[in-house]
Parts: sequence; C-alpha cells; structure tokens
Amino acid sequence: MRVRQSGLLWLGIIALGAGLTAQQTQPPPTGQQGQQQGQAGRQGGRGGGRGVSIQPGQECPAGMTETRPGTCTTPGLPVPSIVDYRPRNTLVTAQHPVPKAKFPAIDYHGHIQGQLASAESLNRLVGIMDELGLRVMIAADSVSGERLKTTMAVINASPHKDRFRVMTGINFQNVGPGWAEKAVAQLDADVKAGAVGIGEVSKEFGLRTRKPDGTLLAIDDPELAPIWDAAGRLRIPVFIHTAEPQEFFEPIDNHNERLLELSLFQNRRVTVPEFPAFNELMAQRDRLFKRHPKTTFVAAHLGWHGNDLGRLAKLFDEMPNVYAEAGAVLYDLGRQPRGAREFLTKYQDRVMFGKDAFEPSEYPYYWRVFETNDEYFDYYRDYHAFWKLYGLGLPDEVLKKIYYRNALTITSGLPQSGWPR
Ligand SMILES: [Zn+2]
Repeated sequence: MRVRQSGLLWLGIIALGAGLTAQQTQPPPTGQQGQQQGQAGRQGGRGGGRGVSIQPGQECPAGMTETRPGTCTTPGLPVPSIVDYRPRNTLVTAQHPVPKAKFPAIDYHGHIQGQLASAESLNRLVGIMDELGLRVMIAADSVSGERLKTTMAVINASPHKDRFRVMTGINFQNVGPGWAEKAVAQLDADVKAGAVGIGEVSKEFGLRTRKPDGTLLAIDDPELAPIWDAAGRLRIPVFIHTAEPQEFFEPIDNHNERLLELSLFQNRRVTVPEFPAFNELMAQRDRLFKRHPKTTFVAAHLGWHGNDLGRLAKLFDEMPNVYAEAGAVLYDLGRQPRGAREFLTKYQDRVMFGKDAFEPSEYPYYWRVFETNDEYFDYYRDYHAFWKLYGLGLPDEVLKKIYYRNALTITSGLPQSGWPR
C-alpha cells in the first residue's frame, strides 16, 4: 500500500501534471509583481533564491509551491511524481485490524454471479464469507428469466441456500409502446422464481441507455413508471446506481481529487455535454424517487453523496422511501470520522453495508472504519484517495442496523431468522 500525504501532493503533481496544468495555473507575475518577485527571491534566499510572489487568490506557477503566504518556491531537488511518492508513515499509534465483522453482515452489493454456477463454487464462497463474518451475499447482478431459474436451482440444491439471494434486472432495450407490460410480466415471473429485489440498475441507465429513436433514456422517463410501481406492489426494493463520482465529470487537472484514477483509467471520465452533467442525473434520479413514494429505492454508493453528507441527509429527509448502500465510498466516510459517525447515528435506519467488487481482502477495511477508533490508516486503493482513513467507532446498535437489520427490514425475501437481537 502506497502512502501519501495530501499536503505534499501538490509538489508531486509537478512532474505528472506539468503538461496538464499549464493552462490552469497563472502566468509568472510581471511589472510591479516582478519587483516583489525579486524581493521574495531574496527572502527565499535561505531556500535557494527560487521564489516568486503571487497575489491573494493567485496560484503558484507550474513547478512551484507556496512556501510562505504569497511566496512560491521551486523545489531545489528533483521531486517524484505522485505515482512514485510513497513516504514512510512515521506515526506510531494503536492498530486494531478487524478481519471479521463484529456482527453477521449482509453484503447488499455483491457481484458474484459467475460464482453461483456450481455447488463447489458456493462451498468456496461460503468458506470466504465465514472468515469475513458475512452471513448473506446478495447477487446484485440483474439475473432474470432462465438464468435466474438455473441460479436459484443451484442455490436451493446446496446446503447453503440461506447464504445467497439474487436480484433480478430490468431490460431497458426498446422502451416504447408495449414495453412496460412485458417488463412487468417478466418482473412478476422473476419474483416468483425467487428474486428478492431489482438490482443493480446499472449506471449506464441515465448515461448511455438509449430509446429506439436514439435519444437518451432519462431516469425519470414516464414510460418506465409501471415497472417502478410494480416493484412497490410486489414490495421488493430497487437497488440503483446512478452516475459516477462527481470528480469524474470534471476536467482531469491538478485540482481533480481523482486525478490519478482518471489518468490510470481514462475511460472513467464523463465528458459534458456529450453526457448529462452530474447534477442533471441527480435531479432525474430524485424525481424518480419522489414520483414513486410507495416503492423502496436503495441508492448505491451513498448516491455519490459520501463527500456531501448534508445533501444525502436532505434526500433522506424529503424521501422516506429512499435508503442508501455504502459500497466503494469508504474513503469518503473514513476521512470525516466525526461527521460520518454523526450522520450514520442520525440516519442509522437508512444505510446498509455493501461492498461492490468481490475482493475478500478488502472487506476488513470496512469493518475497521465502522467499528474501531483507529487513526490514519491506509485505504485499499490508493488511486481512489490520496488520504488516510479514520475509524468511526460506531455503537453496536448502529452497526447491527447497517450490517443486517436495515436490509432485513426492506427486503422481505432475505432469511429473516437467526440474527442477533
Ligand atoms: Zn455494482
């Protein structure tokens, strides 16, 4: 695990981002500022005489960093890029890794469809789940029709039939006259076959899914209303992933929090106006939630509001039919331990654990953030976040709700007995 300190990030960006940042940074000062520059240079003499001055609100030129208020300096030694910068962490503090969850957990956001095909792979999965403290995995892989039936047959024939549940999907192809009747009939059949919910509705919905006439299918398109109402009638939750992290919609420059990730995976960038803007997608999603108050919706990834919990609080306050799942946004909870604890305590009935990508080694990071008061420890993916994580130290009652109780409350098809009181 690489280690970085955000205060020094900017130094490192020089090497990686010099080309990118040239347009964003201010040109070197001239005229009167130039004289100040000379002064700053002398002031900075102890640092090697490489200073220039900037005015309040200005940024240092590329390759320089602010060493005193208003003074920019060029590092005297070659500085590694953010890709290579891995400082040793010298903080000595108590460590409490948590390999297994304190209470049995339900993973609301599993992607394990490929591993539900045989009794052997179920056995293998259960072994891993037992080590992690996962009692139930929900396959949020939109499995429908014949595939759903064969998957349910494998699960039900195994000794582990209470360890796995499966969600069905919605086929958004050819939305138009006649579409809704077919979609609702398929949903009825899938629920009969054992599906416990709809999900995960993919992020493609809103970003790329199109109607037969080539136009984008809006998340709140009225032609889809019957399927959401059917989910309400059937009392099954709709687990929906909308959009991408906010920074994916922004330019890839030295101000972008996800700079390294977007440089590594350039296809994650969402360019506007080729695609709808982040807030446009959020507005469509919120209208969908509001128009179907009898349908339970679960917003994946905290609705991408982990970095703005006040916004998620407002959404929860306005829409009692909405819940959220906390997968793949641990870096946002773990960087604001006090605010996140306050939020999760206040909204303890609305948030559920989920992991998304099935990587057993990553679950213990969630347990550690939720359960301990540990400080300044690594996250599992350094390109997601340049910062360290802190434990929230959630009380047992809140942990139980996030780990299993809330999922049981809104998902009647889950095994309902045998959980800690
Ligand atoms: Zn997912």
